[in-house]
Amino acid sequence: CQKDTEQKEFLQALKEFFDTITPVLAQHPQLIEENILERLIEPERIYQFRVPWTDDQGKVQVNRGFRVQYNATIGPYKGGLRFHPSVNQSIMKFLGFEQTFKNCLTGLPIGGGKGGSDFDPKGKSDREVMRFCQSFMTELQKYIGPDQDVPAGDIGVGSREIGYLFGQYKKINSYQAGVITGKPIPMGGSLGRTEATGYGLVYFANEMLKEANQSFKGQRVVVSGSGNVAIYAIKKVHELGGTVIACSDSNGYIFDKNGIDVATLKQVKEVERKRLTAYLEKNPKATYHEGNVWQLEANFTIALPCATQNEIDEVAAKHILAKGVFAVVEGANMPSDLAAIACYHEAGILYGPSKAANAGGVAVSALEMSQNNLRLSWTLEEVDEKLKEIMKTIFLTCRNTAKAYGVAGNYLSGANIASFLKIAEAMVAQGVV
Ligand code: NDP
Repeated sequence: CQKDTEQKEFLQALKEFFDTITPVLAQHPQLIEENILERLIEPERIYQFRVPWTDDQGKVQVNRGFRVQYNATIGPYKGGLRFHPSVNQSIMKFLGFEQTFKNCLTGLPIGGGKGGSDFDPKGKSDREVMRFCQSFMTELQKYIGPDQDVPAGDIGVGSREIGYLFGQYKKINSYQAGVITGKPIPMGGSLGRTEATGYGLVYFANEMLKEANQSFKGQRVVVSGSGNVAIYAIKKVHELGGTVIACSDSNGYIFDKNGIDVATLKQVKEVERKRLTAYLEKNPKATYHEGNVWQLEANFTIALPCATQNEIDEVAAKHILAKGVFAVVEGANMPSDLAAIACYHEAGILYGPSKAANAGGVAVSALEMSQNNLRLSWTLEEVDEKLKEIMKTIFLTCRNTAKAYGVAGNYLSGANIASFLKIAEAMVAQGVV
């Protein structure tokens, strides 16, 4: 049973947010009067439930399920499901809080939520994953709906899990395509959703680089993780002329100075569902190292953390700065801890915060909801074009808001202030509810 009474991750997310919001509050006295901050730090509701399932040996297993319906001021709750042994209420709340502001930045009408379980899909058979998903959805379906709360994937929840979850929802209710996003294409998924978070991250990073008269061309890039976000971030960096020299999993990292081969990575991770070490069987020139990729000895210039929260602490931040990094753009949620962010600011490097830079996934999820409502599908090119446009708009929002509030170049402040003001004003307009 995990000790989450300290709410460590949730409090960290609040502190990062409030440090940037407090200076602007004086300019909006009505929001202070309306006690908006106190209202925002309380999720609208949290469901916690038992998830019993039977393993392949016929033994009954029990996991804990969560759904945090954080804030529905500007639309139905929207946010992914995470299946990972570390999941607890604090992690769910921090993710729901971040999601609320991220979703607002997309400019689309979606509120914020998050959910998941401490179930670990690693090492489980397909049938075990299916039985777990069916049990999880049997409870979750009571609280969700296309206009109420729309889950999607996150760590440990990819198209296999979404397929099983959707199947069970449909069996209990009826066919409602818009109840979950990230669906496989034949069951109403959107083209481009699988790629969206990774591609969107690189589109956002590219806007930041352009603003600083830089580009991905010739850059040596390190991406942490080797899951959904990481794979498509690597692919897009290569398309834009950069070279990703390392990526990781929770045990270690591979270093390939000629660039990670995306086809091999996809085969190992998406098709064979193996550990990263299997990459070496197909690319013997690469090397494998135990430990955190942010300890890499080689020099590089851009860091794209795409694994998990708090993967970069102060020591790691100082290390990567010493290696020549001039831009950190976050694909994972809250991958840099507060001390690491302070190091970036002190060094004056470019910093793209997760709630802005990784919003491409949820943006395309919202496009999936639109397509489901309209009962049509857009082409990959159409979706990608819309994604590019959305990421550019998010970047401009962060840039222009930071300038307007006297913190030009601080995209973290820009993202937090812009999304906070929009949600806070809408909450005030809706009254005390
Ligand atoms: P995946 O499950 O596809 O991949 C996660 C990757 O991160 C794996 O390589 C995994 O390694 C690694 N990882 C997970 N936990 C840890 C840990 N505690 N320490 C070190 N490495 C770890 O997840 P996604 O790619 O979907 O998600 C990655 C991040 O991006 C998360 O922070 C998620 O919240 C965020 N995100 C995802 C979106 C999406 O659309 N999928 C949207 C927006 C944000 P291993 O296999 O060894 O566990």
